[in-house]
Amino acid sequence: LARREGIDYDAIPESLRDTAVEPGDPVYPRHRSTYLRGGAPGLILHPRTTAQVVEALAFSRRQPVPFGIRSAGHGLSGRSTNDGGIILSVAALNSIEVLDEATRRFRVGPGAHWSEVAAALEPHGWSLTSGDYGGVGVGGLATAGGIGWLAREHGLTIDHLRAVDIVVADGRVIRASETENADLFWAVRGAGANFGIVVSFEFEADEQKNSVGYAQFVLDATDMAGVLERWGATVEAAPRDVTSALILQRGAPPIASVMAVVDSDDPDTIISRLQPLADIAPLLQQNVQLMPYAEIMANDHGAGWHNGQGEPHARSGLVNHITPEFARAAAAAIWDRGLYWFQMRAVGGAVSDVPPDATAYAHRSANFSLVTMGADDDRLNSAWEGLYGHMSGLYLSFESGLHEGRIADAFPPATLARLLELKREWDPTNVFRDNFNIVPSED
Ligand SMILES: Cc1cc2nc3c(=O)[nH]c(=O)nc-3n(C[C@H](O)[C@H](O)[C@H](O)COP(=O)(O)OP(=O)(O)OC[C@H]3O[C@@H](n4cnc5c(N)ncnc54)[C@H](O)[C@@H]3O)c2cc1C
Repeated sequence: LARREGIDYDAIPESLRDTAVEPGDPVYPRHRSTYLRGGAPGLILHPRTTAQVVEALAFSRRQPVPFGIRSAGHGLSGRSTNDGGIILSVAALNSIEVLDEATRRFRVGPGAHWSEVAAALEPHGWSLTSGDYGGVGVGGLATAGGIGWLAREHGLTIDHLRAVDIVVADGRVIRASETENADLFWAVRGAGANFGIVVSFEFEADEQKNSVGYAQFVLDATDMAGVLERWGATVEAAPRDVTSALILQRGAPPIASVMAVVDSDDPDTIISRLQPLADIAPLLQQNVQLMPYAEIMANDHGAGWHNGQGEPHARSGLVNHITPEFARAAAAAIWDRGLYWFQMRAVGGAVSDVPPDATAYAHRSANFSLVTMGADDDRLNSAWEGLYGHMSGLYLSFESGLHEGRIADAFPPATLARLLELKREWDPTNVFRDNFNIVPSED
């Protein structure tokens, strides 16, 4: 393992030298890859303060190599590792502090994990809906959307964002909120990775009961299309305190894993909410627990360094309703073997209350988010031929194909036009291009 071409290692700023990691360092194997992607960067910088992020950015801009931002390294769409380039990791910016008890305002660094956020909020009787896995980082998720266990009741993670501090391409540290740099604040909530490095997020948490109902059902999915359709109809008919996810798998018999959170601490309410979900197909296994929200999010078990290999191949889509036609196409795609992972999450509810032009995440009418993964991009695409026509957009956190067509799927024309204008203003030389790039030179 040797130093890579194009990086002036001698020019690494003094303040970043002791924490910088390069090929050949004993700790390099712990930093080279991410959760899902194998990599071999030429340099990983670990700033510990905002001032050091500014220095790291200025240095990186002078090196003619790929440049990626890493918070907690769970990205599918972003390139938070690369081959021969620089990674600016904000993992050390991971503090969590309460700003105001009365308004439930708190500040969190991009390097914090969502399990840590949930644990820190719990003693205050608060929560913030984020995702389903506690190891995911604040930086990647809170700049894209955030489809979590309380989505139908409380909306997306970005809907709770009140302000950010962001280091933009020219090195300025900009505060953005509804009242300061409001356009940039709009863009950060759905397309943040194109605009800079967010070094601090201020959120408003929700009040949270001590416990919620958490269910895991395994169902016989022999009637795969029927199970999918009934799950969709049941979720749409459920009160907003229910948010559910579904994984469908081939097999003998094929299996549906249904997970659901019911935001209630009353066992009778929880059972009555869950019964319709348990009734959609023959029940093979069930597990229902009353547990703190933070405990559901503590599912990363203190995961340490990443050891991803190869490239993730993921296709994402947002779906308004699970129609019989979509359910049949989905079942065919699952049996087609081009994909090994098929998971749907509920959105809708409070997510759809927010007007589509309020944030760069615009596909607010969707009730469901689909993520599929395959071993090979071409086979995954061919499995998607029958699915694509049923989609009404995509969520970029679950997509690995960065080409232009997918950007148009993620952002409707008016949103994309506004993003393009803002990209020209804030990042005219396209420094931040590792993730779903909105190219500023386009008309
Ligand atoms: C196991 C697993 C479960 C998941 N579950 C969910 C879920 O339930 N709901 C959901 O919404 N998503 C989910 N995701 C997707 C997740 O939200 C994205 O992958 C997210 O980008 C990961 O954030 P990260 O900071 O860990 O990733 P990183 O790999 O560190 O970052 C990903 C990209 O985000 C951008 N980025 C990161 N930090 C910053 C920053 N500080 N400022 C600006 N841009 C930045 C960069 O472009 C970077 O390449 C899941 C992912 C995995 C792997």
